[in-house]
Amino acid sequence: MAGSGRGRSRTAAAVAAAVAAVLLGLAGCTGGWSPGGAGGSGAGGLGDPYFPSYGNTGYQVDHYLLQVSYDPASKQLTGTATIEATATVDLSGFSLDLTGLTVRSVTVDGAAATVERGDEKLVVTPAEPVPDGVGFTAVVGYDGDPEPVHSSSLGSNGFQHSDGGAFAIGQPRSASTWFPVNDHPLDKATYTIEATVPEGLAAVSNGVPEGRSAGPAGSTTWRWSEDAEMASYLATLVIGDYRVHESEHRGKPLVTAVHADLSVQVDRQLAASGRIADVLEEWFGPYPFDAYGGIALADQRVGFALETQSRPVYGPSFFAGGRDGTGVIVHELAHQWFGNSVSVRGWNELWLNEGFATYAEWLYEERDGGDTAQETFDLYWDGPGAEDRFWSPATGDPGPAQLFSHAVYVRGAMTLHALRRTVGDDTFFQILRDWATEMAGGNAGSADLVALSERVAGRDLGGLFDQWLYRIDRPAYPGAAG
Ligand SMILES: [Zn+2]
Repeated sequence: MAGSGRGRSRTAAAVAAAVAAVLLGLAGCTGGWSPGGAGGSGAGGLGDPYFPSYGNTGYQVDHYLLQVSYDPASKQLTGTATIEATATVDLSGFSLDLTGLTVRSVTVDGAAATVERGDEKLVVTPAEPVPDGVGFTAVVGYDGDPEPVHSSSLGSNGFQHSDGGAFAIGQPRSASTWFPVNDHPLDKATYTIEATVPEGLAAVSNGVPEGRSAGPAGSTTWRWSEDAEMASYLATLVIGDYRVHESEHRGKPLVTAVHADLSVQVDRQLAASGRIADVLEEWFGPYPFDAYGGIALADQRVGFALETQSRPVYGPSFFAGGRDGTGVIVHELAHQWFGNSVSVRGWNELWLNEGFATYAEWLYEERDGGDTAQETFDLYWDGPGAEDRFWSPATGDPGPAQLFSHAVYVRGAMTLHALRRTVGDDTFFQILRDWATEMAGGNAGSADLVALSERVAGRDLGGLFDQWLYRIDRPAYPGAAG
């Protein structure tokens, strides 16, 4: 994710102002670890350190087939979710995350199941228990007027009606506002998304376009498939009056969608997504997904961009008045490696997404003839870094209220630059490539990065990471390789 306060040119004054704005919100909150959910049949969550109620235990989803229709006039969403999963315990029952909406029917392997609605959970008891290790298929029919979830620190996330259409985006959760889901990055799955909307409107989602067809009563069904494992918060659906361009980049589909109210200049900026991804490949290794693209919203309520898999969604401010959106495109595309292909184990380690994406911006700016990454690091170090409060909260454990703070973004990038200065350029970029390659498609945490870095560098780096990730005092200026 990226906030709209980001810009490409980084004067010391701009850096100081941006960080000062963030610092005003310091809360010093910390998240306590909550062990596990309520077993294979409970309505408890996966035990995320910050959001313990998110997600569910007892099964892993392999694939979601989402068939939804949406009518902007009535704001009604009607859906059928076919969830192919595998039990990870002997499963007498299980829960799915679902907020709002009305469940009309649930079957498990074709037999009607018993259903209860808990707090943001749909609790399902199959007619027959599912043994550990056995696959099963749950089909949920549902409908209603979807609503986003709100949080004072995280804003509005999820499905929102907008200008004769709708969009579904949000972090750390969004999916449960429009389909039943195991809503945590630890349960990644592949997706097929079929969205039926009134003729003339677009319905754009993740992955490879699988065509569109005329449906009943003047409707059109748009089909998308994401064949790489995807964390649920990275699923998106954008419906409305959009200019959709389908082309190819290096043999893969490149799809951009720009709201009709935005300038065609935005179409040109998003068309550069493939070329920008090629530059990132030079640093991070092969682009991890089967499609490229981007979606630009016109809704002024969206003051951020989100790295929805293979097709990030951008709020309008990044391109307003002819503004150059290259920086934010670099950021969201870097997430395709860091965050999307390699996903966090828990939301406390978000710096593994945001620090890397922010550092990609620094690298790209240097390549474009702007400030070097070293100069950007020094601007922060000498500017806001001279103040104690810049060094709190901890980058590796910022607390849920500071999840999207400078500690995670800027200091996450500074942590990587400190690593680079410590191990040297060749070793550093080898670490980046090995991280993206070895962890591809899975989940990884800070401890994994420390271990991988130590292996590649052939030296102890525990003290360095401990200082930069978990201490809240100013580190020593990172030394040259030696
Ligand atoms: Zn981001």
